[in-house]
Amino acid sequence: MSKLLIVGSVAFDAIETPFGKTDKILGGAAPYIALSASNFNISSAVVSVIGEDFPEEYLSMLQKKNIDTSAVEIVKGGKTFFWSGKYHNDLNSRDTLDTQLNVLADFNPVVPENYKDAEIVVLGNLNPLVQLSVLEQLTSKPKLVILDTMNFWMQEAFFEDLRKVIAKVDVITINDEEARQLSGEYSLVKAARVIEKMGPEYVVIKKGEHGALLFHEEQIFFAPALPLEEVFDPTGAGDTFAGGFAGYLTKTGDISFENMKNAIIHASNLASFCVEKFGTERMENLNREEVQKRLKQFKELTQFEIELS
Ligand code: AMP
Repeated sequence: MSKLLIVGSVAFDAIETPFGKTDKILGGAAPYIALSASNFNISSAVVSVIGEDFPEEYLSMLQKKNIDTSAVEIVKGGKTFFWSGKYHNDLNSRDTLDTQLNVLADFNPVVPENYKDAEIVVLGNLNPLVQLSVLEQLTSKPKLVILDTMNFWMQEAFFEDLRKVIAKVDVITINDEEARQLSGEYSLVKAARVIEKMGPEYVVIKKGEHGALLFHEEQIFFAPALPLEEVFDPTGAGDTFAGGFAGYLTKTGDISFENMKNAIIHASNLASFCVEKFGTERMENLNREEVQKRLKQFKELTQFEIELS
């Protein structure tokens, strides 16, 4: 079975949306990525770090989904990474209220022996130096390395390291605002071109409820987001998207542009569930039938026949 290696933050999140507020709940890039990818019944492992304050039940929930958490380091006496965000009324934008790196600040990742030859690697959101270290530990070149990051790591102190990781990956998934910040271009087409020159052959720009764009050389593919009656909490939608994209490619083993289009649809489909409840709740309780049903809706939404003369 193909293997997916995931590195990313594991967090406590406190979220505020127009519909309510949460206390500290499970969050972080890695749980969202892993839960999403687990829908493809692949082997996956998470490399991350948590403090002693992290509830055991969160780890066992992931393990029950067949996600290997043995490389999630528990720091004695340490505090888990904490992030807090508040969404604006349109839910498309948010303000970060607090970022406390805690144990993430001096994390030295250790890739498990049996994942050093993983076919697909997702470098989820965290310090670019940690992402680089994970790449350096691999014993064989993965088929595909996918990077997801955010504006926090584009500040001056981390920017040079971020550029180094970007130069080493095949795919970058990034939201529209961050693509503009990274490239200095407002047009997303121009932004993608600039980012491609930084290293990745494929650039995926996520536009929240407005879908996602995949760029590769002269080719562009667009997938809408499924129009939903209610969006409750967008947190983790980007990571869920990255996890769905990676999970599907791990399952199929085909990393052609044509198959990446399918991966983008699966990714959008899974992200559409994530936003329906606070935190990871919806992704924890998702079943195959629901996923298949919505995939069918996606197909109907986007397929048309048109005569070209
Ligand atoms: P998304 O909504 O997909 O951008 O991801 C939200 C998740 O990213 C939350 O669960 C946060 O815990 C996590 N997160 C926020 N800021 C950072 C950061 N600077 N580094 C790593 N993870 C972060």
